Amino acid sequence: MPSVARRPVPRAREPASATPAQPAVGFVSLGCPKALVDSERILTRLRAEGYRIAPRYEDADLVVVNTCGFIDAAVTESLEAIGEALAENGKVIVTGCLGARQALVKQAHPRVLAVTGPRATAEVMREVHRHLPRPHDPFTSLVPPQGVKLTPRHYAYLKIAEGCNHRCTFCIIPSLRGELVSRPVGDVLEEAAALVAAGVKELLVISQDTSAYGVDVRYRTGFWGGRPVRTRMTELARALGGLGAWVRLHYVYPYPHVDEVVAYMSEGGLLPYLDVPFQHASPRILRLMKRPARGEDNLARIRRWRAARPDITLRSTFIAGFPGETEAEFEELLAFLEAAELDRVGCFAYSPVAGAAANALPGAIPDAVKEERRRRLMQLQEEISARRLRRRVGTMIPVLVDSVSTAGAVARGHADAPGIDGVVHVAPSPRLKAGEFATVRVTGSDVHDLRAEAV
Ligand code: SF4
Repeated sequence: MPSVARRPVPRAREPASATPAQPAVGFVSLGCPKALVDSERILTRLRAEGYRIAPRYEDADLVVVNTCGFIDAAVTESLEAIGEALAENGKVIVTGCLGARQALVKQAHPRVLAVTGPRATAEVMREVHRHLPRPHDPFTSLVPPQGVKLTPRHYAYLKIAEGCNHRCTFCIIPSLRGELVSRPVGDVLEEAAALVAAGVKELLVISQDTSAYGVDVRYRTGFWGGRPVRTRMTELARALGGLGAWVRLHYVYPYPHVDEVVAYMSEGGLLPYLDVPFQHASPRILRLMKRPARGEDNLARIRRWRAARPDITLRSTFIAGFPGETEAEFEELLAFLEAAELDRVGCFAYSPVAGAAANALPGAIPDAVKEERRRRLMQLQEEISARRLRRRVGTMIPVLVDSVSTAGAVARGHADAPGIDGVVHVAPSPRLKAGEFATVRVTGSDVHDLRAEAV
């Protein structure tokens, strides 16, 4: 068996340093040039991790078969190739287009170790690791599987996309980072699972526009754990929620499909928390800002979310003193805050960014007025926040403990994202351990934080 068989595909060459002691993978590549590129990616990863590519079945510790499922003849050929690899070697991982028809493959060849679909490098590598542990490498073995993290061990940011398709007039991110590029859903879920396996208890999902995840790839179906998963925020949120960690969604725009995500918040670890950067409430200012979802009735949407999940925490940010903002429009924003009763709010006085389109808008607001509006907004929000936190006094809540000292613990509940929201100050107790979950009874509150005791 060549490292790639049945099709005249170039063999992956062994470097001079390869030793027979290294675990060896055989590779059969079938199908079109797109499948060929998938094969190249997998082979590259295998080599980068120190696996040998075996030229014959008998030299391989397991065999990966990249299949084609385009027409009946290709299906037959792929099924035969799997059968041959099983007969000659016995340990076979199937990937590629026919892998998308998992039931068919499993019915024909129940002994295969795993079946993944096309473009599933991460999936294939995970299955290879499971059945043929990766060789020791003096460099990569020193790096933990979850990578090097700058956050404490118990929480981590999970970036699901880069760039942005919107053109908000106060922002230059699209010109700096380009259009939206969503990461493959299998890669995101694999990274998340590795983080959880490494002890992460809270995943903070971030991107420029989390609701838009997958738009650029038309919500393409990816694979994870042998199952198809669409590259879409709703499916991703649900899958992440099943990993056993808390999952917190940031930078979500209020599109209709977010309602679906709110419905999942009663399942698994998906926290009843949404960070929705509204930025303003006046329709005219939102139009000038060119904000995403500016045509939506945000108040009605918030009420629907609260009806579905009365305990949902809503966080947002606003800009005061955007060019042309009248006093009446600013008061419209204050009225929105009163009606929406958002839990967590940040507010910035508008500040021009070099290169932003908003700089050319007429009606620049004097700095003193911008600052005065920002102060008024935050003052109102403090009253709202204090009111909402008071309602939680007397309740029992799960918290994740960030740190412990002789003075007690600093912890966070579902309403508290690290670094930007409030915290829960818990009285000293031997039951509290940094990086672990605990249950506490809320005994008091102030403007941003709660006080509690361990139970
Ligand atoms: S502010 Fe607007 S343009 Fe900038 S990253 Fe966010 S959604 Fe995209």
